Amino acid sequence: DHTALADELRRLDGGRYGQYRGLTGRWRFPGHVLEVARVQADPYAPPSRLAVVVPAEVAELPEDLWRTPVRARALAGYLVRQVGRLLPEHGFRLDVGGQEVLDRSSCRVEDGRVVLRLGMDLPGRGRVIDGRAAERMLCRELPAAVAEGLRWAALDQGEARAFVDSVEDTDALRRALPELGLVAFVADGAVLPRRSGVDDRPLPGGGVPFASPESLRVEVELPHRGRVTGMGVPEGVSLVVGGGFHGKSTLLRALEKGVYDHVPGDGRELVVSLPDTVKIRAEDGRRVTRVDVSPFVAHLPTGADTTDFSTDNASGSTSQAASIVEAVEAGARVLLVDEDTAATNLMIRDARMQALVAKDREPLTPFVDLVRPLHRQHGVSTVLVVGGSGDYLDVADRVVMMDAYRPVEVTERAREVAATPTGRHVESAGFGSPRRRVPDPDSVEAESGGRVRVRARGRDALTLGETDVDLRAVEQVVDPSQVTGIGLAILRCVRAGHLDGTATLAEVLDRLDADLGADGVSVLAERTLDDFVVPRRHEVAAALNRLRTLRVRK
Ligand code: ADP
Ligand code: MG
Repeated sequence: DHTALADELRRLDGGRYGQYRGLTGRWRFPGHVLEVARVQADPYAPPSRLAVVVPAEVAELPEDLWRTPVRARALAGYLVRQVGRLLPEHGFRLDVGGQEVLDRSSCRVEDGRVVLRLGMDLPGRGRVIDGRAAERMLCRELPAAVAEGLRWAALDQGEARAFVDSVEDTDALRRALPELGLVAFVADGAVLPRRSGVDDRPLPGGGVPFASPESLRVEVELPHRGRVTGMGVPEGVSLVVGGGFHGKSTLLRALEKGVYDHVPGDGRELVVSLPDTVKIRAEDGRRVTRVDVSPFVAHLPTGADTTDFSTDNASGSTSQAASIVEAVEAGARVLLVDEDTAATNLMIRDARMQALVAKDREPLTPFVDLVRPLHRQHGVSTVLVVGGSGDYLDVADRVVMMDAYRPVEVTERAREVAATPTGRHVESAGFGSPRRRVPDPDSVEAESGGRVRVRARGRDALTLGETDVDLRAVEQVVDPSQVTGIGLAILRCVRAGHLDGTATLAEVLDRLDADLGADGVSVLAERTLDDFVVPRRHEVAAALNRLRTLRVRK
């Protein structure tokens, strides 16, 4: 038990660092069990991995706070943040997460018991064990944080309940969208601007709070907050216009993150979008593997077949075209596009350019001619930020103008403006069904049988075996642990046979979703002791699509 652990650590003090290995196993403490799952080989190796299990009768968490998967995830999100505050900063590595409340391996509430998984740098003086410091950390600091942070009696119960209820409201709001015919909702009073590009916390003071235009105002009844109002973004094609610096991109970014739940106080608790919302952007240099980009690209000067298009180094426009087709293939229901990160020549081709450059000299069909077919033929809605091209007024179901951070509906006015012909003609008849690609499992997992390394480099890149996957342009990756989760999910697809060389990519993702089900953490945890977050299918698809070793069978 724990006194044996303390004795052992005192005995090890001054010994060779490698002797820490003997700690592996379970140690019983008065209020929890400590499992030393992996011991680092030396002080410079990745941290050792610990698990702490607090039994239900010690934690005494009220059942109504963890009965449903959403509430259990929210409660775990609250608990891990409490322990994170209580643990000393130095030496422990607890994955508490940021502004989003994600399905995270670092803390789980399972039938009332709490499982906490964390890293720890076992202390040493050079390569010599510092047993006293280890005893302080494992036998005093960690147990104190666990006792204060994971037991109902010690918690701020009102705050805990409010956290869980808030997340459940967010989830209920998102689930209410389809019935209301909406793809997104932004509550009145929401705070959208962030501190900075690298700090996702709300702008201090909050800036101008969101206020819905009356014509788009929708009322929703939530389980805890009751009635809330805000701007509903209906299905179809929605345009966000307005002058530079008036808050267009900030609104779109909030919709991007609306697939996730946010912590109370974030300002985006009631900003939601459909779960299958995918941000699209240009990403020159990316890999593209056998994608049918023919709705957008035809007659390349090279004569390449654009129904079966591959490149190691896509241009801005072809990368964006491929990303749109891939998103549709993976089951996106909503696309988000911001002019700031889009390829202009894929977005627009105005009347004058049409007059100057004949269609047979121009391989690209602009998005403006495909955004309606995308909705009509595939049921995929689009929300677009466009401040610079009036051609989109012809194809928008509604137009919202951001005016000094306040949205105003200007659809009527836009119709009047669009009534004056520009002389532009439509270039496309439609958006056919993309070819159904079948990925080759051997190309995804090069080493068969052996251990395949999965490592995140921040939010930017995934190392999968010998390959690096660049995820910098996959903007809905918000957390480094998601990157690890994406890698684990890809391996799971291969090893569980979801990716079997006959299934299409969409079928692989369906099988993955079914497999991960309500308890994806347990499924993915089988192969790792590291921290991870259960990813969405769209980010898994994005990583597969960017994998430079990927081969597609047809
Ligand atoms: P646009 O895309 O229209 O050019 P942005 O969305 O990039 O504008 O916003 C411009 C600046 O205004 C950013 O620094 C952003 O943080 C800030 N901002 C956005 N929305 C608000 C708001 N509601 N209140 C205060 N500042 C805001
Ligand atoms: Mg912008």
